Amino acid sequence: MLKRFTINQLLFVSHLMLVIILIAGMSYSRYQSEWESRVNHEAALIEQSVLPLMREISAAVAGRNYTALTMPSHKDTLRSIESLLLLDVEGTSDYQDKKVCVRYFRETGDIWRIDVSDEELEQSRLNRDNLASQVDADGLSDVTKRKLAFLLKKAEEDLAALELGKARTQEFAAPWPLRPNSAKYELLPEYGVVAVQLPLYNKNGGMVYAVFDASRLFSLKNEIYLTIAIEASVALLISLLLIVGVTHWLVAPLRRLAEQMDKDIEKLNIADMDEVNRNDEIGVLARGLHRLTRKTQSQLKQLKHLSDTDALTGLSGRHNYEDRAVALYKATQRQGAYFGAIVCDIDFFKRYNDTFGHGKGDEVIKKIADVLLSNTRNNDLCFRIGGEEFVVLLKVYEAENLQYIAERMRSEVEALAIPHVTERGIVTLSIGAVMVPPQAKAWTYPDIFDFADKQLYAAKHGGRNRTIFKEIGRDELPPEREHCNDTSIEAVD
Ligand code: GH3
Ligand code: MG
Ligand code: MG
Repeated sequence: MLKRFTINQLLFVSHLMLVIILIAGMSYSRYQSEWESRVNHEAALIEQSVLPLMREISAAVAGRNYTALTMPSHKDTLRSIESLLLLDVEGTSDYQDKKVCVRYFRETGDIWRIDVSDEELEQSRLNRDNLASQVDADGLSDVTKRKLAFLLKKAEEDLAALELGKARTQEFAAPWPLRPNSAKYELLPEYGVVAVQLPLYNKNGGMVYAVFDASRLFSLKNEIYLTIAIEASVALLISLLLIVGVTHWLVAPLRRLAEQMDKDIEKLNIADMDEVNRNDEIGVLARGLHRLTRKTQSQLKQLKHLSDTDALTGLSGRHNYEDRAVALYKATQRQGAYFGAIVCDIDFFKRYNDTFGHGKGDEVIKKIADVLLSNTRNNDLCFRIGGEEFVVLLKVYEAENLQYIAERMRSEVEALAIPHVTERGIVTLSIGAVMVPPQAKAWTYPDIFDFADKQLYAAKHGGRNRTIFKEIGRDELPPEREHCNDTSIEAVD
């Protein structure tokens, strides 16, 4: 299944997965430690705010001193602890082993006692009435009167506070569970509070259970989430850039090399690629490929040369003959020059072979090829297209030139005076030559060859050892192509 993916995709996905797992793991542990330290810090702050009260509360519980726990100054102290929502004291006095319970609750911005009993209220009323009757008694000094008036006012305030507390007590319903478990600290995120339990110092023990508003801590949690999410995103982005960079650094050169290898090997040029100069394995691979392609290219060149060249004569062979002929014809026409086609055939060559043997015949072919070659220039093409048939194609600058060149070829073969068993007694050459002006655009190369071949045929019929030359008129159209390849020429002695 993995084979369906490219190296690039596999590298990218595997690195990305690795990076995501690493970042997720690191973010989680970072969140844990950050949150833990924030919680510990908050717990330390809470403890610090409650600890000063613990000694006072423990002493009040030990001596069963409700007054100390319910004094307005005590309420003021609790009010000053801003985040305190509930304070619940529950203990046993040191002597008489009596339960002592006091519960404060913050509501409407103030601290209220919410465990006011009927007896307490009754006691406070009695105290207030008692003071009121004392104030009205006769014979009191002014100082005593003022003192009693002050105490009465305070008793009335206390009574009013207790009455309000009593009313709150009846309505009180804690929004969070009271004493949910025995842990020292407990976070209750669903209520946005933290609950703390601290032991009293008195002999018979007891606990203070306090609930603090922790909305600040929980909003910090969102901040931690946000910070870690931003950090993780930045890390992911940097990692992505690195992954893209590394995969690009590794895969792009491999892809470029693969694209090159997909090309025609003759057009390959790896030497120009940057990869060749790299010091890593890709560089080794690129240099190896470069050597391999260079070797293959040179071998191909040799092979091409061998297949292009006729081994006996050194002339071009049939391979690529048509393509090269057409290319030269087109180039000549583009340049506005005349195109010349000379088709030659050795006369009575079968008889020569039959008489002198094939080996001698080969020597003749070679000698005649040399004559043809010596009458052409560098850019002309000279083909041996059959056993003893040759085609010479030339760019000609003057109309008469071609006839002259063809005739010179024929006469030079004649001048070789190679003995033969014919009437003439020597080996001769028959030639058909055609000149095409640049204006004769209707003529294709096969038209020209066929026309030149016809002239050769005519030369054979005309008695051999001759050149028949034709110049195509500017407006002349090619004759209808014959659809037969029968080029056999009747032997006429
Ligand atoms: P014509 O004057 O009509 O051309 O007669 P011809 O005998 O030359 O023509 P024909 O096509 O009948 O014979 C061609 C001969 O060329 C046949 C073969 O023996 C000879 N030949 C073809 N290729 C080679 C070659 O590579 N070497 C040798 N020695 N002879 C060849
Ligand atoms: Mg022939
Ligand atoms: Mg012949």
